[in-house]
Amino acid sequence: MVNFKEIQEKYELGVFPKRDLVIVKGKNSLLYDDSGREYIDCVSGNGVANIGHANEKVAAALREQSEILVTCPGIFYNDKKALLLERLVGICPDNLKKAYLCNSGAEAIESALKFTRFITKKTGIISAVKAFHGRTLGALSVTHKNDYREGFEPLLPGITFVPFNKIEALEKSVDENTGGILLEVIQGEGGINIGTREYFDAVREICDRKNILLIIDEIQTGFCRTGRMFACEYFNIKPDMLCLAKSIAGGMPMGAVVCSDKIDIPIGKHGTTFGGNPLACAASLAAIDFMTENNLSESAVNKGEYLMNKLRNSELKMVREIRQLGLMIGIELRVKPKPYILRLMEEGILVLPGGTTVLRLLPPLTIESEQLDRIADCLIKVLNEVL
Ligand SMILES: *Cc1c(COP(=O)(O)O)cnc(C)c1O
Repeated sequence: MVNFKEIQEKYELGVFPKRDLVIVKGKNSLLYDDSGREYIDCVSGNGVANIGHANEKVAAALREQSEILVTCPGIFYNDKKALLLERLVGICPDNLKKAYLCNSGAEAIESALKFTRFITKKTGIISAVKAFHGRTLGALSVTHKNDYREGFEPLLPGITFVPFNKIEALEKSVDENTGGILLEVIQGEGGINIGTREYFDAVREICDRKNILLIIDEIQTGFCRTGRMFACEYFNIKPDMLCLAKSIAGGMPMGAVVCSDKIDIPIGKHGTTFGGNPLACAASLAAIDFMTENNLSESAVNKGEYLMNKLRNSELKMVREIRQLGLMIGIELRVKPKPYILRLMEEGILVLPGGTTVLRLLPPLTIESEQLDRIADCLIKVLNEVL
């Protein structure tokens, strides 16, 4: 058998912490390694596979579009792009009117940072402690984790980090240079920290009063993950820019910034080669159709509740707290999560870390109940072990 791991170790720039697993195939919520072993996937490509792996509707759209038109630069109009823009704006909070399409989450954040500077003529951005917004220089500047930032300074000037969900701290850090406030609705990488309605109401009020743009990052929480198309709906958040990516196109790389009518950028001031290409747009249309036709928001609510009921009714010695909305689940442990992640992998369940002591579960929203049973059984077994 070809040793893929060895080849990759030889030729890949080693930036990713690796698990000893070669994934070669996926179907819905299952992944398969190169020896044919099956795993239940609670990673979903870090939240990309909300509609499951190898989704047939997206596969068909990709097949069809790949034989019609793959690339079309932004200087031309395009049928699939037009339809996707209309669809995307239609599912977003109703104050959002226009979208800019790009290729990734970090790129959506970069674009939102540029738009903020251009519109407000200010360089100050307030972000949150434990925020994650991506790894390019601009996105990294608003990402909190020191380990990610170290070695890349100087980053963008004017960035302030305030504790998440604490309105006094945020209000105090606003000054005359503040152009934007950038927040996740639920901090994902930071360990599933859920904001409150009062907080987001107060943030919106500050933004209105001080003429600051509110940028909401739903790259991880978007597309039915939390039990709504967007987590903004729970708290009635009306952002000026909504950053999207991850599950937007059924696994194809795509990002978007959906904007209120405050955001007006002149021709030629921003752009991208691949952003909004017909192939990604066709995939995204199919993915969004799949989500609405199959009511994946409701699935996320019901399945999240089903799993939580099983966990709530069981003793979990190593667990401090569980934070959950839909199928976005953070299990706060009493210890570091790594040994438990590896132990669950032995049991055939793939999960993510979050923050410093959290197990993060983001299964496909199409996951079946027998698989949820298996996840619950394994968690109950493993989270009572002292590793
Ligand atoms: C993943 C993620 C990003 C970055 O997206 P990339 O596509 O990896 O650049 C930004 N914000 C949040 C909340 C994310 O989860």
